[in-house]
Amino acid sequence: MSKTFSLEFFPPKNAQAEAKLWDVISKFSEYNPDFISITYGAGGGDRERTVEFTCRVKQDTNLSTVAHLTCVGDNEDELSQILDRYQTQGITTILALRGDIPKSAPEQKSGVFPYADHFVSFIRNRYPEFKIGVAAYPEVHPQAANREADLINFKKKVDAGADFAITQFFFDNKDYFEFISECKLKDIHIPIIPGIMPITDFKQINKLTQLCGSQLPMWLSKRLEELKDDPIAMQEFGIEVAAKQSQDLLDNGAPSLHFFTMNRTPAVLKILERIS
Ligand SMILES: Cc1cc2nc3c(=O)[nH]c(=O)nc-3n(C[C@H](O)[C@H](O)[C@H](O)COP(=O)(O)OP(=O)(O)OC[C@H]3O[C@@H](n4cnc5c(N)ncnc54)[C@H](O)[C@@H]3O)c2cc1C
Repeated sequence: MSKTFSLEFFPPKNAQAEAKLWDVISKFSEYNPDFISITYGAGGGDRERTVEFTCRVKQDTNLSTVAHLTCVGDNEDELSQILDRYQTQGITTILALRGDIPKSAPEQKSGVFPYADHFVSFIRNRYPEFKIGVAAYPEVHPQAANREADLINFKKKVDAGADFAITQFFFDNKDYFEFISECKLKDIHIPIIPGIMPITDFKQINKLTQLCGSQLPMWLSKRLEELKDDPIAMQEFGIEVAAKQSQDLLDNGAPSLHFFTMNRTPAVLKILERIS
């Protein structure tokens, strides 16, 4: 089984973080990722930074670059300006997302594109040459009415023209494989790349799971609780868990792996060294 993988980064917040991130990207590039992707802030703030940084990665490296782009609260012109810039820069793949609706302005839901499938249609029609990725949720999106409704909504994105999907992170591979089986039953056959979140920090992982609606299985949660005051043991345990999870996914048919790096190298590099 050959190992193919991609890496997700968020845009650096200042010059110092940017210098560090270039170093991280340079280390990872030796491992030949399929692509790297750069997240896009739905709340405003770091949007321009994302666009600028994504274009710089494309210009200054040989890495294939995927630009995340959210549609919540934006109109067609605003989104087209960004898509035009990406097209001019030679970026060919967009991860088309709705984004999180800001709690302070829920009325933005009624924007031009209320859900990602509308945004996918828009890109597919106006920019037919872009390859389009979308998000998938093996444990169901937190705002979905139920599992079946979420699956139907996922299919709308595929029918609108999505070429591939990347999942939210999860810790029980059963969730991923069940989701894949359900997709097949709905005639969804695009590659669905599992998202892997290496656990490195107790507080951070608890915060992230709450935010994203991913469950920590009981055995994992119990062990993390035991290790919470031993950061070195926690890190080693997190690497071991993610490496086993990744290997099992690849061995059982996952098309590749997508790592949420949190802009750091050590954990993901050690995981990559342990999988084949
Ligand atoms: C791999 C990955 C990368 C991400 N990157 C970013 C990022 O860079 N920036 C960022 O801000 N966020 C990012 N997110 C988070 C994402 O923006 C949020 O999860 C957001 O709440 C949903 O976005 P979506 O594109 O999945 O939305 P949608 O697919 O639109 O789904 C959102 C919710 O609406 C429901 N729904 C969908 N379509 C319909 C419909 N037609 N009618 C009724 N209900 C519907 C769905 O069931 C779901 O509950 C990422 C998520 C993943 C998995």
